[in-house]
Amino acid sequence: MLQPFLHYGIHFLLPLAVALLFFKTQWKIAYLIMISGMLIDLDHIFANPMFDPNRCSIQFHPLHTYYAIGIYVLLLIPKKTRLIGLGLIIHILADIVDCLMM
Ligand SMILES: [Zn+2]
Repeated sequence: MLQPFLHYGIHFLLPLAVALLFFKTQWKIAYLIMISGMLIDLDHIFANPMFDPNRCSIQFHPLHTYYAIGIYVLLLIPKKTRLIGLGLIIHILADIVDCLMM
């Protein structure tokens, strides 16, 4: 069972690695902002059933569509929103790994 390990590894350890590597002095704040990318899973509330481990989130939930991902990429451009965009893209990455491993 490698999948949960990979999923949560990307969710929690990848933002940590990025924070430590690129935001040395402010890594805690950077990490917190990136972790808050998890909030987009709130869109699962509108899904039925709310949580299904065998469902691919990508393209299923409104905040996990290619359209939404496009917006997350745009958030990378301004310095102010870069961390938010980064957190959201890392989140999507974790979900994509899930889909690939199904
Ligand atoms: Zn998700």
